[in-house]
Amino acid sequence: MDIKELNEIIFDPIVCVKCGYCKSTCPTYLATRDERFSPRGRLSLSYKIIKEKERMGFSDLIRVFHDIDTCSKCGECEKTCPMGLNPYLSFMRAKAKTLPGKFEVISAKLTTKSKLFFTLLFYFGSKIKKSSYKINLTKISFRQREKIENEEKSDTIFFPSCFGYTIFSQTKKKVESLMEDLGVKFKTAPQSFSCCGAPLLFSGSMEDFEKNKKELIRKIEEKSTNDLSTLLVLGPTCTYIMKKFYKELNEKFPKVKIKEASDFIIEKIREKEVKIHVGEKDSVGEKDGNVKNITTKRESNINPEENKKNEEENKKKSEIIVIHKPCHEKYSDAIDKKNFFKELGFNVEETEFPCCGFGGSMFFKYPKMSNQLLDLLSEKIKEEEDKKVLVISNSPGCILQISRKHETKHILDLIYERIIVANHQQK
Ligand code: SF4
Ligand code: SF4
Repeated sequence: MDIKELNEIIFDPIVCVKCGYCKSTCPTYLATRDERFSPRGRLSLSYKIIKEKERMGFSDLIRVFHDIDTCSKCGECEKTCPMGLNPYLSFMRAKAKTLPGKFEVISAKLTTKSKLFFTLLFYFGSKIKKSSYKINLTKISFRQREKIENEEKSDTIFFPSCFGYTIFSQTKKKVESLMEDLGVKFKTAPQSFSCCGAPLLFSGSMEDFEKNKKELIRKIEEKSTNDLSTLLVLGPTCTYIMKKFYKELNEKFPKVKIKEASDFIIEKIREKEVKIHVGEKDSVGEKDGNVKNITTKRESNINPEENKKNEEENKKKSEIIVIHKPCHEKYSDAIDKKNFFKELGFNVEETEFPCCGFGGSMFFKYPKMSNQLLDLLSEKIKEEEDKKVLVISNSPGCILQISRKHETKHILDLIYERIIVANHQQK
């Protein structure tokens, strides 16, 4: 065995002692009860790759790659391991050394660099998987060049992520509009630096991930003031990546807080004790419409009449809101969203099973595992005859996956559409 290579892969200070604790929280193991799909099993397979890669036949290599790659990247094993290991990062790096792993790295690079590739991947993936989430391709702009010289800088940067610039672009606009309503001064990170590098990290290519991170931090420096205080991120996975792997960002900006966008907005609503108006569903402006127009359009939809409020109250009574907590939320100091919606009179529940089975590429590549996880989650969501169930989540990936079985919406879409916030600056 090449010790140098082994050290490079097992970058954890202590090696696995095979206690098996990690199995108790691993969703793919819990769904299959098969050791191959547990963190411990996948670590063993990783050692096999390192030790026997040259001697392994192609079909053997494909099988081992498959067993490792069906990991949903939820990170539960890292939380559970009493030795403080990070098993999934170790075996992601091991699989990158195989031939199929090298193809995956190429695909991860394309996903990171090209919004068109990213969009088409998830667009057709969602169609094939019969996701009911509506993706409107005409609302997506693929222009990546922005002029940022001489632009006013801000100490608050909104990072919409790849999803926010593509198939969740309407949610991005709603976030911007809500933040304006809440009086938050911010700059939106341009599309040319909208990827945190998650696909690269999950493909096991640490070198490419590091390169992407360096470039992203350099661009954040260009856009922000020297005392960057808040980096708002759309989605818990990118929040997790930036909190956990962007140590250099904290070194450059010691005061910076990385916050997931829905947490930030709910906190702001509470902090400012913003008066909440009950509104009705509307859509955000056209692709090129600016935020002011969007806000105006929304304000015109605020209906202060009592009957409208009653209508909304009746609607609340006849529905159950189920909050799906994404796997990566546990790393982002997420706030208690259940109480927020409860206080507003919604019937609220939360999902218990940790992983919906989206798992990045698992959604496309491993339908069997992905479906097994979705079924386990879905069993916990009780559809009732007399009540409509609406699942909400702050993770774009989870929304695509869960909407295959249940009506699903982004939390921030719900806040924008049903809990309309008056512009506090005008009060
Ligand atoms: S990864 Fe950690 S929890 Fe899992 S078997 Fe190894 S030492 Fe135990
Ligand atoms: S990251 Fe999640 S799915 Fe992957 S091995 Fe760890 S616990 Fe299991």
